[in-house]
Amino acid sequence: MKIQTICQYCSAGCHIELNFDEATDPILNGITGVVNTDGFICSRATEGYRFLNYPDRIKEPMLKTRMGFRRISFDEAFLLIDEHIKEVKPYRNAFFAGARLSNEELYIIQKIARVGVGTNNLSSFHYLGRGTGYLHNTKSNIPVSEIIDTQVIYIIGDSLPEANPYFWSKVQQAWREQNVKIVWVSLTGKSLIAGIADETIVVSSLFPFLKLINRSLIESGRADKMFTEEICLDYTQYKESLLSESKELHLINANISLAVVDHFVTRLLSSGKTALIFTEEELSGNACREVHNLAMLTGKMGRIADGIIAVKECANSQGLIDMGIHPEFGQGGVSIDDEDFLIKAQTTWGIEKLPAKAKADIEDVLKAKPVNLFIFGEDPIGNAINDKEQIATYISKAEFSVVQDFYMTPTAQLAELVMPATYLFESGGTYTNSQKIIQQVNAQLHTEVEMTGFKQLVAIATRLGLPAMETPVDAMLESVLLFPDACSHKRPRFVYSNEDDNNRIFLNGAICNE
Ligand code: SF4
Repeated sequence: MKIQTICQYCSAGCHIELNFDEATDPILNGITGVVNTDGFICSRATEGYRFLNYPDRIKEPMLKTRMGFRRISFDEAFLLIDEHIKEVKPYRNAFFAGARLSNEELYIIQKIARVGVGTNNLSSFHYLGRGTGYLHNTKSNIPVSEIIDTQVIYIIGDSLPEANPYFWSKVQQAWREQNVKIVWVSLTGKSLIAGIADETIVVSSLFPFLKLINRSLIESGRADKMFTEEICLDYTQYKESLLSESKELHLINANISLAVVDHFVTRLLSSGKTALIFTEEELSGNACREVHNLAMLTGKMGRIADGIIAVKECANSQGLIDMGIHPEFGQGGVSIDDEDFLIKAQTTWGIEKLPAKAKADIEDVLKAKPVNLFIFGEDPIGNAINDKEQIATYISKAEFSVVQDFYMTPTAQLAELVMPATYLFESGGTYTNSQKIIQQVNAQLHTEVEMTGFKQLVAIATRLGLPAMETPVDAMLESVLLFPDACSHKRPRFVYSNEDDNNRIFLNGAICNE
């Protein structure tokens, strides 16, 4: 059997073909897609997807009993969920959704939380505790296809080859075929990037390094005047705040000299067309903001083959933001205090007001002891970088927890009720890649799971009084009504942050990638 889908392993969004039957491991082929126009496929994909034939996939709802988990019907499961939600005040429910779910599944989860239940306790472990710096990270991305037309590529951080093999292949191609120069700002000096870097600068921390570069541009009078004085907002405020900081402290924290800073700035300004590439898994939200500030200070924004490329972590990390999976931000990453978002929510959802803002931090959300915890497509315990026990303790505090996943992950094992998940090619739907390209996959495989993940969410929503939806297309069409108007395009804005918020708690965007 052949299935054409979007690879779920990174945020590139390559089209791939899965060729498999029940007796053998799948054979993977790259096929020409909207993103991988050359049919690229990487070893991460060719060596993955063996899980398709794993025998222990969850296929039915499983309820925890004293004797272990026992199978129950979908109707029994939905009744339990419905009863538990309605038994408590809305804010005693908390919803988490992961970056491998389709946009349509994420949208229904947003609607269940905000409209069906009436709470903004809605988040993703992926971005939990990491601030708001990632929200609009990809807004100014140049297309990855323009890498080939640059003259110098600046890679900030060490993780690009593993984080996004397709983008990395485009960097290598530009270096190999067009003699594009590579400048690498590294934390370790160790990465495949070393093999093609023309110049390497090793720093101890990226946030103070970026601050020093931006400060140098301002102090030396070399910032782009059109951007700082005409195009962008809040430059004066940013400049005053940045100049009030201790330069010496940043030099110590970055572990570099002023001569290195000055050399970097001089080279950057004389580079011609430039791509500044960085990954979310390595840069904190506030470090990402400083890359955006750097792009504005150098006029490298809104130009062809001359700007930034923020690389998101998972297949649909962008979808989490677009579909409002955040306690303080709704559809399109717009604040839930935004008047326009409220009007659209009133019209589309038929509600008078949105629920009050919830806490954005993991400690606050989970320590608030939600009575009911719903985790769709995430395995925070299995992917916790440091303290798995602490995360497990938080999750155990819920009186009733539901996990929807493919396998009995460490998080699922703690749940009272485990629901089966389905893959994108079983349920159909869309992913949005790191370049904000939305790609649709049709349901092609008749799943052994009686009800797709999307249909399960719709069933939960309808029990809460929301209108039924037949297909993922219905969800996508409705979700579009909530996006901010295209004409409300805002001028870019300098954003100051006084400290690093490097607080990545989970690997793999907290998802079980099987
Ligand atoms: S580059 Fe990313 S999306 Fe493309 S095949 Fe490799 S892992 Fe999959």
